[in-house]
Amino acid sequence: MDKIIISVATTGGRFPTKEQNPALPHTAEEIAANAVECWRTGAAIVHIHVRDEQGRGVCEAERYQKVVDLIRAQGCDIVINLSTGGGSGVTDNEQRFAAIAIKPELCSYNPGSFNFGNRVYLNPPDFMGRMAKAMFEAGIKPEIEVFDTAHIYNTLRVAEKGFFAKPYYFQFVLGVQGGALATPKQLIHYLESVPQGSPWSVAAIGRHQLPLNVMAIAMGGHARTGLEDNVYYGRGELAKSNAQLVERLVRIARDCGREPATPGEAREILQLSGSRGKSLP
Ligand code: MG
Repeated sequence: MDKIIISVATTGGRFPTKEQNPALPHTAEEIAANAVECWRTGAAIVHIHVRDEQGRGVCEAERYQKVVDLIRAQGCDIVINLSTGGGSGVTDNEQRFAAIAIKPELCSYNPGSFNFGNRVYLNPPDFMGRMAKAMFEAGIKPEIEVFDTAHIYNTLRVAEKGFFAKPYYFQFVLGVQGGALATPKQLIHYLESVPQGSPWSVAAIGRHQLPLNVMAIAMGGHARTGLEDNVYYGRGELAKSNAQLVERLVRIARDCGREPATPGEAREILQLSGSRGKSLP
């Protein structure tokens, strides 16, 4: 089977906290060190949120830039995916555009509002359109985070305006409270709802992370692990690090005959260079 792109989501924008798992990286130095360690372990993409001194998730260009610089200073060519998802320290939705100024190869993209845990996560149609346009003009490929099936249809509606370069890259997120359930049936429904040939990856929350990652391995998809989605290694056992979660996923993928893609191979699979330097139609 084809190579598998392993993404690691190291930190998260709201949860988890260091109280939930002390191994969670907060500072730029910690996040960069985790990214490099996961790259050495087999991750091809790192999904990055940044935190302030109080540990709140923020969207600030300087903080993103510092993490990127620290990663690159170590000779690490991992594909960088900066979050536009917001966080507990974000006071205005417009702050979520900050990562676009850094022009990473990937930014997460949120195509729809929904109840996320105990709050309403706002991604209104106008906001979605402006975010897609800003990424397109900056040559950034959106990693489309699908929390529920309607997010796929919302994406296709935005795509009609020409703001996405093909292939569309979907991150299927399963098991968020307020979003779709983490079940095999839901994953298959997602898969049947996206344009054929779209690269796709699976992220699942908490105890669902590993079994749904394994489904993605078996089905020819890509997979995201990391402490953002799950702080445990096993029942009642905290993960020691992001790299420990990556290491297990690499091992299982190899046992199933799927070699982890290098960052260069991930760039080819996702056609990242193809999304750069285009002007709007
Ligand atoms: Mg995220």
